[in-house]
Amino acid sequence: MQIRNTVSSKDLNTFGINVTIDTLIEVNSAEDLHFLKDKLSSPHRILGGGSNVLIVTPPSLPVFHINIKGIHQIKENTDHVLVKFSAGEVWHDVVLWAIENDLGGIENLSLIPGRCGAAPMQNIGAYGVELKDVLHSLTAFNVEDGLEYTFHHEECGFDYRTSYFKTKWKDRFIITDIILKLTKPSYHKVNISYGAISSVLEEKGIPSPTIKDISDTVIAIRKSKLPDPKNVGNAGSFFKNPIIPMSQFKELEKTFKDVPSYPVDNDNIKLPAGWLIDQCGWKGKVVGETGTYKNQALVLVNHGDANGSEVLDLSKKIQDSVMEKYGVSLEREVNVW
Ligand code: FAD
Ligand code: NAP
Repeated sequence: MQIRNTVSSKDLNTFGINVTIDTLIEVNSAEDLHFLKDKLSSPHRILGGGSNVLIVTPPSLPVFHINIKGIHQIKENTDHVLVKFSAGEVWHDVVLWAIENDLGGIENLSLIPGRCGAAPMQNIGAYGVELKDVLHSLTAFNVEDGLEYTFHHEECGFDYRTSYFKTKWKDRFIITDIILKLTKPSYHKVNISYGAISSVLEEKGIPSPTIKDISDTVIAIRKSKLPDPKNVGNAGSFFKNPIIPMSQFKELEKTFKDVPSYPVDNDNIKLPAGWLIDQCGWKGKVVGETGTYKNQALVLVNHGDANGSEVLDLSKKIQDSVMEKYGVSLEREVNVW
C-alpha cells in the first residue's frame, strides 16, 4: 500500500483529464483492503485503469487505485480450466496470456483497455462476446462490513453493459479477483459472426481461424477504427447502444427507412448509437478542445486540454439532438465523477 497526496489525474484516466487528486491510495493486495476498512467505510472512489470514467469534479474523496496482481490456474478438467486473475491485472494482457496458453473464450475481447477488476462492472463486451459468457465467479470486498464475498456469475445481475455492481450494489463492493472459465484447445468455440471479423479473415485467406487469428483480427479492426488513448484522450463508447421497444422502432422506420437495427428479442431492438449521432451531424465535429472521433461518432474525445465539464456539456448536446430527431434517449455508458 502506498498513499500519495496531490497527484495529477492526467495519466490515471484515458480521457487525459488533468485535475488534482487530493489522496491516492495504491492498493496492492486484498489484505490492504482489510487494513484500510475504516477509510473504505466513508465515501471514496475506486479506480482501475481509468478507461471508463470522466472526471468532472476534482476528487476530494480518497481514490483507491486497485493494483492487486496475480494469475493462478485453480482447476482443470477435460474441456476447460478455471483461472483466477487479480483485479489489477491489465485486461488486454490477460487476453494475450490466454492466447499464448491456447485458452479460449476471450479472444473477441482483445484490446479493451482497463483492468480485470472493472470488467464485471459493465459486463465488458465486444464482437458478440461479453464477460458474462466466460466469468465463473468473482471475489469482492464489501466496504459496509469489511468482509469478502464470492459471487457466481448468475448472481451478478449481468445485462447489456451493466451489472448489479454498477446499479443496485453501486459503491458497495470492490472486486478483488475474477475467475474465468476458459476452453482447452479441442473445445474452442470461435465466434466470427460479428462486424467485420469474417470479411477480414476471408481477405487474409483464413477459412478455419485459431483463437490467435481472431484476436489478431479484432486488434487490427479496432486499431483502424478507434482512437488510441495514448494519442487522443477518450473513454471508448460514451453512450450505450439504445434498446427500444419494437413498436417504437416500427414508428421510427416509417420516417427513417434506413435506420440500422439489431433484434434483441421479440419485443426489443437495438439501434447503433454511433449511427444516430452521425446522422445528427456530430461525427468528427470539433467543439473547443473536445469533439467526436472522425471514424466513430460514439467516441467523445479530448483534443488536448479539455476539462470534464466541456466533454459532459458536449455529451448533453448530443443527447438532445438524438432525442429531438429520433425521439430516442441515449444513456451514458461512461461513469461521471
Ligand atoms: P475504470 O475506468 O478505472 O473504472 C470504471 C468503473 O468501475 C468506475 O466506476 C470505477 O469506480 C469502477 N471500478 C474500477 N475497478 C473496480 C474494482 N476493482 N472494483 C469495483 N469497482 C471498480 N468497454 C467495453 O465493454 N467494450 C469495449 O469494446 C470497450 N472498448 C473501449 C475502447 C477504448 C479505446 C476505451 C478507452 C474504452 C473502451 N471500453 C470498452 C471501456 C473500458 O475499457 C471498460 O469499461 C473497462 O472495463 C474499464 O476498466 P478500467 O479498469 O479502466 O475501469
Ligand atoms: P460496429 O461494428 O460499427 O457496429 C455498431 C454497433 O452495432 C455495435 O456497437 C454493435 O453493438 C452493433 N452490432 C454490429 N454488428 C452486430 C451484430 N451482428 N449483432 C448485434 N449487434 C451488432 O461497432 P464498433 O463501434 O466498430 O465496435 C465493435 C465492437 O466493439 C462492438 O461490439 C462494440 O460494442 C465494441 N466497442 C465497445 C466500446 C465501448 O467503449 N463500450 C468501444 C469500442 C468498441 P454492441 O455494442 O452491442 O456490440
